[in-house]
Amino acid sequence: MTAHQETLTNPFNMDEDCRNCPALADCRERVVHGYGDAGAEFVFVGEGPSAGAEATGVPFTGDPAGERVQRILGELGFSRSPADSPEPDLQNVYLTYLSRCRHPDRDATDEEVRTCEPFLNAELRMINPEIIVPVGTRALRELAIEYTTRAPESFDAADEHATTVRGRGFELVPMLLPEEQTDEQETAFVEHLTENVFPRDYRQTKGRRSR
Ligand code: SF4
Repeated sequence: MTAHQETLTNPFNMDEDCRNCPALADCRERVVHGYGDAGAEFVFVGEGPSAGAEATGVPFTGDPAGERVQRILGELGFSRSPADSPEPDLQNVYLTYLSRCRHPDRDATDEEVRTCEPFLNAELRMINPEIIVPVGTRALRELAIEYTTRAPESFDAADEHATTVRGRGFELVPMLLPEEQTDEQETAFVEHLTENVFPRDYRQTKGRRSR
């Protein structure tokens, strides 16, 4: 977390009363904006808040799937908190979503994802990470449109899990939805980052300032 950052929750002070998607705004309990280190090199992007994340207000927390992600963050050295913490102490990682409001009965529509996109784009612009981790096929395909030269429908998180996809400006390291991962796939993801991403200079593509 940078010296100027006061809170891990919604550090860019995004609109917590946004009603740009009326059908979601009418039934959500709250908007779940991004959480984490505003100067992070790694950004995890999920599809949208689960019921657990909506309850805590923190992406990828509040349920067993979130705990898997938090356990992975701990194994990678990004978190100093137990996996079931509702407000994990994160460093060098930022967690966010394609769309930030949860409908209890359905996924966000494509239009709702498009409507929410400016929030994600603004976060990525301000953070300027090196590595983006799309969590699940939908997040992977949405990010592929913007940041890779491959056709989005050619991507499937099951095939790309724990690999590196070189993109335009960012590298993508896709992850299967945590609720669909086996323990072996969790281990494979951690090993890919620790053995293939951390040891090399993934910062070189942007001439990033030294940290
Ligand atoms: S999903 Fe995004 S754009 Fe739509 S109401 Fe929620 S915060 Fe606003």
